[in-house]
Amino acid sequence: MQKILVIEDEPQIRANTQEVLELGNFLVITAENGQAGLKLAEEEQPDLILCDIMMPELDGYGVLKALRHQPATAQIPIIFLTARSDQADIRRGMNLGADDYLPKPFEPTELLRAVNVRLKRQATLAQYFSHSAQSPANTAEKPTEYDSITHLPNWLSLQKRFEYWRHQIHDSPLTLVLLKINPFSAIRHDLGHTFSNSLLKEIAERLRSHWNSADTCIDLTVHLGTDQFALLFQGVASPLSPLVQEIDRLLEKLTQPFHINNHKVSIFVDMGLAIYPDQGVDLDSLITHAEKCFEPTPHQPGPSPLHLKAANRSKDHRLSLETSLRQALEKEEFAIYYQPQIDLKTGRITGAEALLRWAQPHTGFIPTSQFLTFAEETNLMIPIGEWVLYAVCNQIKEWHATKREPVTVAVNISAQQFRQANFSHKIHHILQTTQIDPLFLDLELTESLMMQDIDLTISTLQTLKRLGVNIAIDDFGAGYSSLRHLQLLPFDTLKIDQQFVRNIDKNPGNRVIVRAIIQMAHNLHINTVAEGVETARELAFFKEHNCRAMQGYLFSHPLRPTEFEQLLTSKANFSANIA
Ligand code: C2E
Ligand code: MG
Ligand code: MG
Repeated sequence: MQKILVIEDEPQIRANTQEVLELGNFLVITAENGQAGLKLAEEEQPDLILCDIMMPELDGYGVLKALRHQPATAQIPIIFLTARSDQADIRRGMNLGADDYLPKPFEPTELLRAVNVRLKRQATLAQYFSHSAQSPANTAEKPTEYDSITHLPNWLSLQKRFEYWRHQIHDSPLTLVLLKINPFSAIRHDLGHTFSNSLLKEIAERLRSHWNSADTCIDLTVHLGTDQFALLFQGVASPLSPLVQEIDRLLEKLTQPFHINNHKVSIFVDMGLAIYPDQGVDLDSLITHAEKCFEPTPHQPGPSPLHLKAANRSKDHRLSLETSLRQALEKEEFAIYYQPQIDLKTGRITGAEALLRWAQPHTGFIPTSQFLTFAEETNLMIPIGEWVLYAVCNQIKEWHATKREPVTVAVNISAQQFRQANFSHKIHHILQTTQIDPLFLDLELTESLMMQDIDLTISTLQTLKRLGVNIAIDDFGAGYSSLRHLQLLPFDTLKIDQQFVRNIDKNPGNRVIVRAIIQMAHNLHINTVAEGVETARELAFFKEHNCRAMQGYLFSHPLRPTEFEQLLTSKANFSANIA
């Protein structure tokens, strides 16, 4: 006989429910509040639980969470009984892992139908698990399903839980969040294994206490191994969903400093996310997908991009980062560095790319692409971009006044700048105020930017061309572009993306593509620039295939204006390197 636990504080409803179920041939046990219900659930291991939501002290949500957190009761199906039936309640219950929802008052037949459907499903699942030798009922006792250091559920638990949901909810979405602790290996190296294990325990404790908080939607918190943790959610993390807000709060908790054995350590949390079934139908592919979302570990000095990423997530930090960026503009903390571009025939410097740098007084250099991403999100990209354009045009003017050899400078333009309605007017105005020859200004737009809204791109580019400036396609090859579209775009230079340049000598596939790109550019009378050339072999390939120019660490890192000036006046010639 199957055993059903009824947790209900109203004596009348409790008695009625019991009666109906007993008539339906079930063995019924009852509890008059949440706490008593939890205790009974653990002792009696019922096949199903019917639970009221509105109860004093421990309500139905609290019961559900506690059940799901105890391995012994985690898999028992639960049906909520409640007078409240608005959508938000249903969703909240389902998010926490309720299996069904029965609005009160209900007819006896409704109750029995709901119970039978649920039990049948559970039987099917049990069969599935016993076939795959993974019975969820006995997952609990095995110590191998918990991490030995942190005592959090481990990979095996995650796999079981995931399979359980997959069969329970079919194609309803699940979200898997991967958290990677940085710089974990450095901490272990510097402070030892004992210390780093204590750190892991503290991290696990923060995760656990968060999990125990009332408003979590996390279904399972897992320690996957050394520096990786995972969270499993039911549902999808869209930008405004409670799930994302919860991840924000959690990241904020994790990035508060830890005090262990008289040491204060802060960690950065790298986060990746994948959604079942869209981004993978098994755990391995979901994890691979989530890992791809990880930011690369930073090599630059200054705060890690991960720190910025975590900071980006909380409103306060957002505000402070936004204020810092505004102040940076006012206090002139920005600088422009110039990376020389070399003509591959003559070995001469023909131009430079202007690259923005932000040196924060307290923290030093902050990686450009990181703060620019943030600037894009906050509309600060437009004033920053304008500052760059003015600064570069004034610099071009100064160099032209004092140096004999004219140089062309390329400025990167972001999507937000380019899509302003009056962008070409602004360029016109800047050219007029600074009085430079537009021929010496290149505007670099990424390939992916150009391909969005191609009609608008074409018309803006045409206006810009009429002003006399040059247009370069940046990071060419990194996105998807159609050749038909390329032909319609009025541009002068094509910058071959670093990913094609890297190890070109060892990659036959890339060699074919790059040869074709250069050939096509020649036919269209377009300049080519190889970006990020680091080795003599890479250089040799581009020279041999008549690429027009190159830019990269092999010749020079981006330089301060005075350093670049010295290079220009020394009439530096790289032909020896090129030969
Ligand atoms: P990008 O326009 O593709 O710039 C090239 C990036 O590659 C620069 O990174 C440069 O320092 C780096 N680089 C140059 N040579 C080598 C090399 O040999 N090896 C390697 N590994 N890297 C090399 P940076 O300065 O960090 O800038 C990153 C991106 O930020 C730029 O990519 C550009 O998209 C954007 N950016 C930089 N300054 C500005 C700006 O003033 N405005 C806008 N809108 N974007 C900017
Ligand atoms: Mg560029
Ligand atoms: Mg580039």
